[in-house]
Amino acid sequence: MPINVLFAAKPERWSTYGPALKRAFDEVGLDVDLRPDFDPAEVDYLVYAPNGSVTDFTPFTRAKAVLNLWAGVEDVVGNTTLHIPLARMVDDGLTEGMVEWVVGHTLRHHLGIDLHIHGQDGQWRAHVPPLARDRKVGILGLGELGRECAYALRELKFDVAGWSRSEKQLNGVKCYHGDAGLRTVLGRSEILILLLPLTGDTRDLLDAKRLALLPEGAVIINPGRGPLIDDAALLDALDSGRIGHATLDVFRVEPLPVDHPFWTHPRVTVTPHIASETRPESASRVIAENIRRGEAGAPFMHLVNRDLGY
Ligand code: NAP
Repeated sequence: MPINVLFAAKPERWSTYGPALKRAFDEVGLDVDLRPDFDPAEVDYLVYAPNGSVTDFTPFTRAKAVLNLWAGVEDVVGNTTLHIPLARMVDDGLTEGMVEWVVGHTLRHHLGIDLHIHGQDGQWRAHVPPLARDRKVGILGLGELGRECAYALRELKFDVAGWSRSEKQLNGVKCYHGDAGLRTVLGRSEILILLLPLTGDTRDLLDAKRLALLPEGAVIINPGRGPLIDDAALLDALDSGRIGHATLDVFRVEPLPVDHPFWTHPRVTVTPHIASETRPESASRVIAENIRRGEAGAPFMHLVNRDLGY
């Protein structure tokens, strides 16, 4: 009997993911009937995206797991109809994309690249940027993405500190946790990168009080989630110049409404939630491996802790 897998993401993703998933199932030797449509009572696994059409998991009476295509689970983790394991996406391709985006935007601010792109006016401004070793970077969230970004920045010799919920030790990265740890990281971060999940504990984490702890002129780079930052407090801090710049990839409302002040603020760079994306080929291999494990009675990878919300 084949394993019945429902592709429960946006229909326009099917043409890319269908073939990639089939290849991945073949690679691990799984006999899978994969479809974008199924009688819910016959489904064994859901390959899922929170912006797809499934919001009620009740009819999926024999399903063994929901395998999320996204790293972020804030739109599904609280679903009260979901009583089977939920796995989030950890994908090499997605991680590599995030590392490239974070390193690129960090270097932009570290090197002051804008000065030359926007200031080519015949004036010879011989401003030499400091070395990375003299630049303090902070990363809030040291999970799959934050950790790899920390390592990449460390390789460039940035002075990197990070903050997580639990205590960590990462080679060459100063690791902090708890409230005092957060204050320490904020207090030293000339460039602050947000790679936290959105949970009850992290919503509005960067409020006016915490923004005030950052060094004068600090830069914020947020590829995590929009509601991690209090928008009004950030705009105040940008208006006064306390915060030098914010590069924002994620927002409370997406797409960012055309009249939102972030679009036109001289100290804000908006990117349209493109910091990184799940890559179909590598993500399909992760999904296939998780189904193989499920069928072999082995523990699923990347399970979400429903109590913690990530
Ligand atoms: P992850 O592996 O679950 O890591 C989350 C990190 O945040 C962990 O280090 C965790 O601490 C820490 N954390 C969670 N709650 C915390 C709290 N209350 N206080 C302090 N630290 C806390 O997640 P990930 O795969 O790195 O992804 C992070 C987020 O990136 C996703 O949730 C998503 O929102 C965002 N994302 C954005 C894009 C984009 O294109 N913009 C793409 C992918 C993902 P512990 O290590 O102690 O558990």
